[in-house]
Amino acid sequence: MSADTKKETMGFQAEIQQLLDLMIHSLYSNREIFLRELISNASDAADKLRFEALGDQKLFEDEPELKIQVEYNKDQKTISVYDNGIGMSREEVVSHLGTIAKSGTREFFKSLTGDQARDSRLIGQFGVGFYSAFIVADRVEVVTRRAGLPRGEGVRWISEGKNEYTVETLDRPKRGTRVTLHMRDEAAEFLDGYRLRSIIRKYSDHISIPIVMPAEGKDSKGEDVVNSATALWTRPKKDIKDEEYQEFYKHVGHDFEPPLTWTHNKVEGKTEYTSLLFIPARAPFDLWDRERRHGVKLYVRKVFIMDDAEQLIPAYLRFVRGIVDSDDLPLNISREILQHNKTIESIRSGCTRKVLDLLKSMADEDPEKYAGFWSQFGRVLKEGVVEDSERKEDLARLLRFASTHEETEKQQVSLTAYKERMKEGQKAIYYVTAENYKTARHSPHLEIFRKKGIEVLLLTDSIDEWLTTHLTEFDGQPLQSVAKGELDLDGVKSPENEETDKQARKKAGKEYKDLLKSIEGALKDKVKEVRTTDRLTESPACLVAGDHDMGRHLQQILKAAGQNITEVKPVLEINIEHPLLRRMLDEQKDEARIGDWANILFDSALLCEGGQLEDPSGFVRRMNAMFIEMSGAG
Ligand code: ADP
Ligand code: MG
Repeated sequence: MSADTKKETMGFQAEIQQLLDLMIHSLYSNREIFLRELISNASDAADKLRFEALGDQKLFEDEPELKIQVEYNKDQKTISVYDNGIGMSREEVVSHLGTIAKSGTREFFKSLTGDQARDSRLIGQFGVGFYSAFIVADRVEVVTRRAGLPRGEGVRWISEGKNEYTVETLDRPKRGTRVTLHMRDEAAEFLDGYRLRSIIRKYSDHISIPIVMPAEGKDSKGEDVVNSATALWTRPKKDIKDEEYQEFYKHVGHDFEPPLTWTHNKVEGKTEYTSLLFIPARAPFDLWDRERRHGVKLYVRKVFIMDDAEQLIPAYLRFVRGIVDSDDLPLNISREILQHNKTIESIRSGCTRKVLDLLKSMADEDPEKYAGFWSQFGRVLKEGVVEDSERKEDLARLLRFASTHEETEKQQVSLTAYKERMKEGQKAIYYVTAENYKTARHSPHLEIFRKKGIEVLLLTDSIDEWLTTHLTEFDGQPLQSVAKGELDLDGVKSPENEETDKQARKKAGKEYKDLLKSIEGALKDKVKEVRTTDRLTESPACLVAGDHDMGRHLQQILKAAGQNITEVKPVLEINIEHPLLRRMLDEQKDEARIGDWANILFDSALLCEGGQLEDPSGFVRRMNAMFIEMSGAG
């Protein structure tokens, strides 16, 4: 006997222990889902076998009919779920049932709060169905053999859901997996044929292979098929209940919660296929992990071909779950072929269209629901504006942004709504980009807009910087950063005497000519130019980028991403109506002082934008000196 056929006791990955505890305690009110999860896994295993057998018929051994058997034994207090699917090798058992091989797992567990109601929802979207067995069982035994391996390479895995499990190799004539639950006393109610059948019908009716139970009653012989055993998506839409769609989603999406919405379409014509696509209610914790699985599954004539067929849906819709079943693809299609296949291209384009239509009607008909969607997936959808130039316009209509005209960050507006409330004479859609909502909201660049009552969109996702380089206009209106170029707000009337203000400023500007020169001299390494501003009403100064220059925020993001960028110097705009500037005018003969104050102006403008000072202690020293002088102590 080789070393690894022996019985071994192994410890669970630390997170699994935590997960098990949480599952047992928090999913207690909905214990019956354990069966749904085990059947879901059995069905996946059958799908995988059928797919692998396309290349190697021998994998079917002498049992080509795939099915799932559910049995119970009242005396022994066991329930078992058996499938003749793909099974697992010893290595697979250890890795699939002993670890969670998903990146971000540790971070996910750190985010748990200890609030069980909330955490259990998170657990749900984490999709670790197998462990739900421990909600009802105090011992779980898995006996399995991978299809194609010799019968001597069966595996038994046993755990009590504490810290550890055992694995051993054993003789196993049948391929596939049997999961046997030794039920807790409190879960004895499930040892009942009627109960089990009704749970199967409730949650697993959509499973496309038969789920059978031993026949019960007087002359009980043979077995009954408990579910409908037809692929859900092949049934006419009108015959499918919402609950059925929802349960199907939980299976394909590996989610515990119902989806937000879905779209089911049978496409006829040149390419024929059926798609059933769901939008989850909540973003999975690994949404940002590009390696993660569970996207849209591809079926060919009802035979499962692959998970997460990324060619079927663009990356910016990677949150979509569901299936595509095509009649027009060969069964032996590979991922490589998918990449240059006309049929796939046409399916992808059709699916994209359907999802965008679905989102659009949700946005139109149920803005609140759409806001929920946006808060979960908006950042991903924004990638589409950058990646999918063909649908840029449609995607732009789906965007939502925080705005100066809304009270809170949560109330977000569409570009269409913005356009409708533009001021007379306003020539662009204005936005400000910043690291976060507060910085954006309090940006000095907004002062003149506030005064004139012009709405400004507050863009705070890092992707917004790319978004705005690709989305330069919307519906005939240019999008313009409030921190770039020269502003042209002359067409918009302001409540006060703006015109005379402006003229007065112009006149006064002459008086400041020399001062501007001195400031520019003092900051010549940091700024391109110093000029008077039309943007500010309260702050003394702000930084502005040239019309075609990269904004400071984007420069910062690129630098953080390790990119080598040539820095573009900003323009410093100063507000000559500010008392500080008047004071500087009085003191302009004192070059050293003007130099210090010019640096203070620059540094505080940078801070207001959320920027980082190159020499913070220099800033503090100059500020202190200024305080002392201003208070007359110096
Ligand atoms: P998920 O189904 O979301 O992957 P689970 O916790 O339900 O997560 O299952 C974990 C893994 O264990 C599965 O991905 C699969 O590899 C393996 N597994 C579970 N049940 C079976 C089964 N009946 N047959 C083969 N493999 C299984
Ligand atoms: Mg599962």
